[in-house]
Amino acid sequence: MKKTALITGILGQDGPYLARLLLEKDYKVYGMIRRYSNPNFENLDYLGITDKIEYVEGDMTDQSSLLNLIKTIKPTEVYNLAAQSFVGASFEQPILTTEVNSLGVLYLLEAIRMFSPTTKFYQASTSEMFGLSNKNGYQDETTPFHPRSPYGVSKVYAYWITVNYREAYRIFACNGILFNHESPIRGKQFVTRKISYGVAKIKLGLANEIRLGALEPRRDWGFAGDYVEAMHLMLQQEEPDDYVVGTGESHSVKEFVELAFKYAGIDNWQKYVKIDPRFKRPAEIYDLKADPKKAMEKLGWKPKVSFKELVRMMVDEDIKRLKEELNAKRKKA
Ligand code: NDP
Ligand code: GDP
Repeated sequence: MKKTALITGILGQDGPYLARLLLEKDYKVYGMIRRYSNPNFENLDYLGITDKIEYVEGDMTDQSSLLNLIKTIKPTEVYNLAAQSFVGASFEQPILTTEVNSLGVLYLLEAIRMFSPTTKFYQASTSEMFGLSNKNGYQDETTPFHPRSPYGVSKVYAYWITVNYREAYRIFACNGILFNHESPIRGKQFVTRKISYGVAKIKLGLANEIRLGALEPRRDWGFAGDYVEAMHLMLQQEEPDDYVVGTGESHSVKEFVELAFKYAGIDNWQKYVKIDPRFKRPAEIYDLKADPKKAMEKLGWKPKVSFKELVRMMVDEDIKRLKEELNAKRKKA
């Protein structure tokens, strides 16, 4: 029998990479989208899989839509990627963030418990839950949580309710505690894409500065295409469990900036980068660095794309796509 997967957050960054992987493995993929007058399929188009997915409507804040979806589809696997996922916005919209990221997960788990208890469940947990906490500079599955934003706090609830439904109802539910992962279809508000897109605009004479909140914070940045493999592997194990997924290296925002300008062939990045307090966080996390030993040993997972390759990929793609857009506009004019 063909396996079926329901992916929430299908139009975001990870949804398209995961959908592509599952389609390659011959799954039938259902993608949940919100009720929009005009949904944006740009990221799925980028991977060329828009017409290979069956779209179903639902919203993480609407319990009845989730109950109906699970009751009707009874998928083999659910990947819950939907979230208000931007830390910065969670300070501006803490209640919406909590409704989507915390209560939404409970609604989904309740739907599974009631209508399809053999469905396997993946929860998109995050290194933001660790916040200030670390063990000798690294975070692993045993590191206590100390979130630093409404986003991080909302994901801690989601993490524990996932563990609780596993323990209380024997649902095959896993938390993937993923560290930052990026790609050419990362949202443009996130710092990596803000930089790669900004550098591309400067390269093509369309902008003359990038405004950032800080250069010092460090993150363990990997490639989204590698990380969705870990999500899938977690649901193929004998027993459900929680795993930290990252590269084991951290780099500063400044290092990302320096490399991005270098790969675009622009000297003197200091001329173009301005520090702007509007992009500073009320509470910052200065360093996140994974110890992904458990995922490597138990799942046999490892990242393939290095930090340098990631920066180069994002800058090259943004320059290429901006050039194509400019050419198309010129032809039209
Ligand atoms: P994105 O922000 O790119 O995508 C999130 C998706 O969630 C969007 O498609 C959005 O829909 C959807 N969504 C938001 N609110 C709702 C709602 N109320 N109902 C239904 N759908 C909704 O995130 P990523 O793809 O980068 O991340 C995937 C998941 O992994 C998220 O849960 C994120 O928090 C988590 N994560 C991400 C990390 C990263 O570095 N990328 C690191 C660790 C965890 P729409 O397109 O309609 O706005
Ligand atoms: P996060 O780790 O989920 O918050 O991912 P982001 O890409 O949004 O931010 C990564 C780090 O870059 C955080 O420490 C931010 O505070 C820092 N940063 C510095 N300047 C900026 C900026 O202008 N925009 C964003 N999004 N982050 C910035």
